[in-house]
Formats: sequence, C-alpha cells, structure tokens
Amino acid sequence: MTLEQWLRQSALPKNEARMLLQYITGYSRVQLVTQGDAEMPSETAAKLEAVAQRRLDGEPMAYILGEREFYGRMFTVNPHVLIPRPETEHLVEAVMAHLPQGGKVWDLGTGSGAIAVTIALERPDAEVRASDISSGALQTAQSNAQYLEAAVEFSLGSWFDVDRPSEPYSYDVIVSNPPYIEAEDEHLQQGDLRFEPPAALTDFSDGLSCIRELAAGAPQYLKNGGWLLLEHGYNQGRAAREILKANGFVKINTLQDLAGLDRITSGQWSA
Ligand code: GLN
Repeated sequence: MTLEQWLRQSALPKNEARMLLQYITGYSRVQLVTQGDAEMPSETAAKLEAVAQRRLDGEPMAYILGEREFYGRMFTVNPHVLIPRPETEHLVEAVMAHLPQGGKVWDLGTGSGAIAVTIALERPDAEVRASDISSGALQTAQSNAQYLEAAVEFSLGSWFDVDRPSEPYSYDVIVSNPPYIEAEDEHLQQGDLRFEPPAALTDFSDGLSCIRELAAGAPQYLKNGGWLLLEHGYNQGRAAREILKANGFVKINTLQDLAGLDRITSGQWSA
C-alpha cells in the first residue's frame, strides 16, 4: 500500500490520519505529498495500523503522539498528566499580568508543567516553583522543564503540604488549574477525558473542594497584596468568587475564555 492509499482508506479524520502518518514515517507535511506514491514497507504499515486503532478506540491524539503544544512550545504528555488546554493559556497570561518584576510564583498541581514552565520561560526575571501530588506528573513536568530549559523548582506533595516547604508569606502569585469537574459529570465518561488521570480532572466531590482548599491555604504563603488565580469550570464563576471572598480575598474578578465562558477567578490577599 502507498501512503496516499492508506490515507484514503483510513476511517480517521484526514488531519488525524496525516498526523499519525507523519508520526510513524517521520516525514514532513511536504514529504507526505511528494512521497504519496511510495510503497510503505509492511513494518511501517503495521505500526500505522496499530496507532490508528488506538485512535479509533478513543485514545487522545496527544497521548499517542506523546506531545501537545501549549503557548507555542511542545510539551511531553502521557497518561500521568492532563493534556494542556488552550483555555489555560489565559491563566498563564493572567498570572504574568499580576506578577511584578522579579516576583515569586507557585503553580500547585502542575501536571505536565505547562503553566510553570511557560511562565519561567516568558518571564526569566520570575522565581517559579511547581508542585504536584503525583510523582509521575512531577517527573513529566521536570523533564519538560529540563528539555525546554526552564528554571523551575519542583516539589512533591498535596497542595500546600509539600516535601520541600515553601517560605510563608513570600509569593506574589499562587496559581492552579485544579481538578474541578464534579464527580457525577457525564463528561468524565466522554472523549479524551476517559483517558486522562481522573485525579487531575475531578475532586470526586462537588467540583469545588480543591478550590476551597487552595483559597484557604494560599493566604499563608502570599505576600500582603499578592494574588491567587484559579482556573475553574464554566459554571463555577460565582462559587469561586464566593469562596475567595469567604477566605478574605479582595478585588475578586472572573475572566472569560475565548468562548465567553467564566474560566479564571482571581483575588488579592490583603492582610
Ligand atoms: N478543562 C478541563 C475539561 O473540562 C478540566 C480541567 C480540570 O479539571 N482542571 O476538560
């Protein structure tokens, strides 16, 4: 079979079939066209069929390819980490807008490290720390930081309870994209989410328990005047604002994503 014949008979959407073909052959987009009539070695065809079947079984493209672009850079991803979402690029921008020159930022539940690594690279003046409860995630984040040459300090642990303790009252910004999907949300049983680490998606409760925990713990680590920025579900804006208010934050504000949905809530800590 030729490359072109395989593309034509594949049950996958054309763009995905092309991406898998490039992944297996190592060809560029241009080479896919110029080599379209070349016969595939049977070994290549077998590898291609195997990855195509994984995709047909629902596995996310990002896990099959082992990477996903975030803020213009490629991040290694695997089933230990959530696949970075474009919405989270807004969170990175919001952090940078609140981060003073030479400021300190802590990304809790860093996953692939997309947030922390991007901030460290975009703002080399900043001091960036990242933590995660999952050692598989932390290793992935560390290898992303190493490969992309980002200076990030990592620690293992659950939210504020980390193995290398953070200095109290020292952060300008605390940021997190925590698990915020409700335990019963049907989306957990659909699409890419079926393959992502459940503990990165849901709190196995009402979707707000990690937001409560972050809002309660952050004041211990924020400087007076520092900011907490949290990503949350499209229907959690009001709840997130109430939680921040109840924990003493001021200047509370919710930002929308490109779809116009509530996505990020920020608040300032004023002791
Ligand atoms: N935004 C993701 C989704 O709805 C969830 C990410 C998260 O739980 N932090 O697929």
